[in-house]
Amino acid sequence: MLDADFFRRWMTATATSVDREAERLTALDSPIGDADHGSNLQRGFRAVKDALDKEPPATPGAVLTQAGRLLISTVGGASGPLYGTLLRRTGKALGDAAEVDGRQLAEALRAGVDAVRQLGGAAPGDKTMIDALVPAVDALGDSFAAARDAAEEGAVATTPLRARKGRASYLGERSIGHQDPGATSAALLIAGLVEAGGE
Ligand code: ADP
Ligand code: MG
Ligand code: MG
Repeated sequence: MLDADFFRRWMTATATSVDREAERLTALDSPIGDADHGSNLQRGFRAVKDALDKEPPATPGAVLTQAGRLLISTVGGASGPLYGTLLRRTGKALGDAAEVDGRQLAEALRAGVDAVRQLGGAAPGDKTMIDALVPAVDALGDSFAAARDAAEEGAVATTPLRARKGRASYLGERSIGHQDPGATSAALLIAGLVEAGGE
């Protein structure tokens, strides 16, 4: 079973990998964006980690809804509201249970991803974070490691795509040949599940 501390570790593991990969995320956002994705998420996940370290919420759902709220208030740009919605909606779907199992997490994350799709209007293949999140959720029933691998493959597979949503879509054909920064950070978020060590 996955308790509030597992979810706190998931968020702090993500904060650590976002810190480590911030320059790369920003570099990916330079040819097809405005070169701020790494710094945007770094600011957001640092705020999440600080808040969770100071006063850890008591339930899995509360950890994620608080993290989502903080991302919305600290991350500028497109990715703040999108990641914030992902975590808030996932947290809401977990309710106020003290512990959840892997299947409940997979269902909740599916609700979170659906909310991101609704908010941003992106479908799979549009070269966004959705291209990492959807395969991850599909694989989550197998294991966290399977979800991590699926997200990473999904992120890599955005390279030949033409962007249809977000800033990169303004480039049209010229967005082809670059890996999407948001799909890349979404793979870091999913990898955080493995690093949190729940399975
Ligand atoms: P901004 O583009 O406002 O500078 P970021 O650079 O932080 O925001 O985030 C860019 C990422 O957000 C993109 O790489 C893409 O994955 C994701 N993104 C942008 N628009 C959408 C959308 N409508 N739906 C899903 N993801 C999106
Ligand atoms: Mg950007
Ligand atoms: Mg920006």
